[in-house]
Amino acid sequence: MSSTTLPIARTVRGAVSGLRSLRSLHSLWQRWFLWVILAVLVVALLATVVWLAGRHEVEQVQTALDRDTADAVSDLRSGLQRNAQSLRASQAGGLDREHWPMEATALLREHREWLRLEWRDPALRTLAAVDTPYRRRVFEDAGRGPDQPDVSLACAAARKAGAPAYSSSHYVPFVPSGGLEVMELCLPVEGGGFLVATYSLRDTLIELVAPTLTRGQEVAFTEVDGTRLVAVGASRRVGTRVFTAQQLVDLPGTALMLRVDGWRAAPDLFPNLLTGLVTAISIALVSVLVLLARDTRRRLRAEHDLADALAFRKAMEDSVITGLRARDLQGRITYVNPAFCEMVGFSAEELMDHVGDVPYWPTELAQEYRQRQAHRMAGGVPPREGFESIFMHKDGRRFPVLIFEAPLINAQGAQTGWMSAFIDLSEQRRIEELSRASQERLQASARLATVGEMASLLSHELTQPLAAIASYASGSLNLLRNAGSSTGDHGEVAMAVRRIAEQADRAGQVIRSVHDFVRRRERMREAVAPQALLDAVLPLVRLQARKLGVRVDVHVEERLPRALCDRTLVEQVLLNLARNAMQAMDLPDLSDRVLQLRVVRARAVGESGAVSGKADVRRWIEFSVADRGGGISEEVAARLFTPFFTTRPDGMGLGLSLCRTVVEQHGGALAYEPSRPRGTIFRFTLPAA
Ligand code: ADP
Repeated sequence: MSSTTLPIARTVRGAVSGLRSLRSLHSLWQRWFLWVILAVLVVALLATVVWLAGRHEVEQVQTALDRDTADAVSDLRSGLQRNAQSLRASQAGGLDREHWPMEATALLREHREWLRLEWRDPALRTLAAVDTPYRRRVFEDAGRGPDQPDVSLACAAARKAGAPAYSSSHYVPFVPSGGLEVMELCLPVEGGGFLVATYSLRDTLIELVAPTLTRGQEVAFTEVDGTRLVAVGASRRVGTRVFTAQQLVDLPGTALMLRVDGWRAAPDLFPNLLTGLVTAISIALVSVLVLLARDTRRRLRAEHDLADALAFRKAMEDSVITGLRARDLQGRITYVNPAFCEMVGFSAEELMDHVGDVPYWPTELAQEYRQRQAHRMAGGVPPREGFESIFMHKDGRRFPVLIFEAPLINAQGAQTGWMSAFIDLSEQRRIEELSRASQERLQASARLATVGEMASLLSHELTQPLAAIASYASGSLNLLRNAGSSTGDHGEVAMAVRRIAEQADRAGQVIRSVHDFVRRRERMREAVAPQALLDAVLPLVRLQARKLGVRVDVHVEERLPRALCDRTLVEQVLLNLARNAMQAMDLPDLSDRVLQLRVVRARAVGESGAVSGKADVRRWIEFSVADRGGGISEEVAARLFTPFFTTRPDGMGLGLSLCRTVVEQHGGALAYEPSRPRGTIFRFTLPAA
């Protein structure tokens, strides 16, 4: 990767991972968002319920207070009415100055709310007056005359209506300090005049309003505009809430307001059982919510751990080279790992849900496999050590596999199918094959060594008899020459003896050459004339050529440079090639059997195959061995130089590979091509000295 693409790739990778983390953040937020909404809703609901409960209670209290106030007003009204009636009753038998004060005193004793009773004439002048015995005297007689506006107004109204009437309230100050709020009642008397009763508003409240009301509340009279006149009852305690109810007390001649202020001692937020219950339920609900949130968090963590474990398992399954396959009890493939897919060349989608014949069963073996599968499905137990089988790759190639099968047990302990592991044995087989081949090669080498030793021994043992034959032959020739006759039978005998001597000499050469070849002299390069190399192998070549009826044709270019080589090895190469060529011509239908051995200067650098690519300044000598045999077929050509490859029953298959090694060790090259009209030409090059 170039220096500019690297940062880009890094940026892209960073962006991708950023996106991924953003997405996970988003889903996390979404999950928490729901929780937050739920929590907010629950809290809102609870707050509303608590508020509603509180309000309900307030309303109830208010209603009760209103009711109490209405009751109090009606009590008050009937009380006042009763008072007016008892006042009227006091003058039933007519009034007389003598008895009235006594009656008035008796009335005042009964009615504490009255301060004073007066009997007035029609002009409102006071005829008689009695003050309440419960207080010190409130009024000066002088202050109470016909010009009293409150009394005159009330009496005017009473006269007009012929019924009792009330004055509006007014304040009567006391001499040193303080005072009283009072209200007058004027009652017309039969035969003219009036009875005037003065009410103390404060005592009216105490006497005429039910004491239960004044115990816990403050009860007051106010003007219609709200001005407070008098109040009785408990004063407000700290930390309480005030409830107010007021109602008009409509009296003939005047109107007053009765105002009741109540308060609740309990705190406002949890005023009673209902609210308490709702609150308790709310707390329980919130606790459940918290527990639920905690549970969700734990669940999330477990989910996370599970995802990690799954990813780990997946990574493990993907990385193993053992093929894995799961089948259910019906034989349907439910899982394959990547190694298995790669082994058989089919994708997971192509294999999944396959029932019956699967595509990787070789067609010729499908029947057998079907039986095996039926046996397995019927509950047959596979061998623990596994079994071998042949599978077919998608491209049709068959390959051996080792299969281990085990029942697939689920979390409840029930068998749900079969799990199989596959090991591809191709590579193992190849290695076994290789080791077998090398074993064979070793044995062959050992055999070769033995043959070499025997040949060496044989050549040594044959040297003596051959030398003896040669000396006997020359002795015999000398005897014949001394006998002096060179004609007739003697002449022919001499000729035969000479031939014997020649052949014995050739046999000696062959044996020496074999001896040298087998002894494998120390590898050393020397400058050797090409002709000398040929001469060394020709006796052996000719020996075999004669046996096979082959004509040997030798051509050596003139004034060739000498070759720089290991003599023995090159001789061996020549010998091998010549022998192969002659054996190729050992066919029954061949009449034209010619072995051509040629040595020339290499035509051009590169063409001989000596050097490829760059120019070479060295000079090269090319040796060629041509035959007119059957040629080399394509199958043979593919493995020609493979050690131990041979088509001959008695062949070793080492010759050509050895030759190529030797030639390449010298820096040259060994190649072959078809010859015309038929046969093959093997060429090799050696560097010139
Ligand atoms: P060997 O001679 O022991 O069989 P080689 O390595 O010399 O081993 O030869 C390997 C094979 O190459 C021979 O078995 C033969 O089939 C083939 N071969 C070699 N030379 C020739 C040739 N000149 N013409 C045809 N086939 C040849």
